[in-house]
Amino acid sequence: MFVVMRSEATEAEVIGVKGLILAEGLTPFERASAGRTTIALVGEIGRRRGELRAMLEAAPGVDTVTPISKPYKLVSREFQPEDTVIRVLDTAIGDGSLTVMAGPCSIESREQLMDTVDFVAAHGATIIRGGAFKPRSSPYSFQGLGVEGLRHLADARQRTGMPVVTEVMEPSQVDIVAEYADILQIGTRNMQNFSLLLACGRAGRPVMLKRGFGATIEEWLMAAEYIASAGNPQIILCERGIRTFETSTRNTLDLTAVPLVHHLTHLPVVVDPSHATGKRWLVKPMAIGGVAVGADGIMVEVHPRPDEALSDAEQQLDFEGFAQMMDAILAVHEHVKDLHGDLNRGPGAGRSDGSPATDPVATAPAAEPAS
Ligand code: PEP
Ligand code: MN
Repeated sequence: MFVVMRSEATEAEVIGVKGLILAEGLTPFERASAGRTTIALVGEIGRRRGELRAMLEAAPGVDTVTPISKPYKLVSREFQPEDTVIRVLDTAIGDGSLTVMAGPCSIESREQLMDTVDFVAAHGATIIRGGAFKPRSSPYSFQGLGVEGLRHLADARQRTGMPVVTEVMEPSQVDIVAEYADILQIGTRNMQNFSLLLACGRAGRPVMLKRGFGATIEEWLMAAEYIASAGNPQIILCERGIRTFETSTRNTLDLTAVPLVHHLTHLPVVVDPSHATGKRWLVKPMAIGGVAVGADGIMVEVHPRPDEALSDAEQQLDFEGFAQMMDAILAVHEHVKDLHGDLNRGPGAGRSDGSPATDPVATAPAAEPAS
């Protein structure tokens, strides 16, 4: 639940409400919306709901106390109707502009990374991607350059002025990755690695959370809630395809997730057509699709000589393919950008007065209830 303070509430009254929440062993999360202070209560509320609500309603300066209907709280649009905009160096994600994250699947050498970033920077990319620590299905495949790769990434940032995003695979790597990267990426295989989610939540850097290949949207948003509950509201969601019965593509790109997630949360969402399809020639049409349904950005893999790539050779774009995709998605974004508000939020969502929306979305219960 969350508390909306009266517009004339004093700082002492806000501190008083936070004190009451802390005294219950819960964490208060404060934000300002439309000139009002709103405070979410986060933690295990259990059977105390009614009692807590009555106590807070009676506290000085409190206007209303509203339950949040979803199991995720801080990332829900009910708590924060306004879109989250994430600013990194000179770029913003979620502000209506089109974010393009581009670079190789794996950083293989300094030369390979610099050739790629020079090209994508000159052709409209806004963020550099590249894997230094690689989650590979086989222990015998190339595992990434590790810290050497992180150093190349930092040089690429220096060279282009663009922020860099790279994957962190385990809690013990968070500090070193956060030292070099602007955005921490949590990969599909780690979406429910709760200790990693919490460690990234404490790292003080924006986090890009990829959807687990077997995760429902609710599980994905609960994973985002772990990061937010650790104190980090700067989260980008990435739809990268899910595993279905279909075997003609590497995964099945769930484009419905984009407007749905925009409706349910205030977080920006990007689409990764490279890992979703696993096929180079499908990347451009599915990137177009992602932009058309209102994604805040696209993440794609680009390699100077994709056929020689040490990972994901079949899906990486060559330079010409990237340039062609950019022409297409920039044109589509021009057409759809003013539609995004309508596309994303659904009926009643994102009201400026912060009141909860009536939810037209029937979410099927997860096969295994979250605990
Ligand atoms: C990646 O983006 O480098 C990656 C490994 O993606 P995913 O976790 O979606 O498979
Ligand atoms: Mn890859």
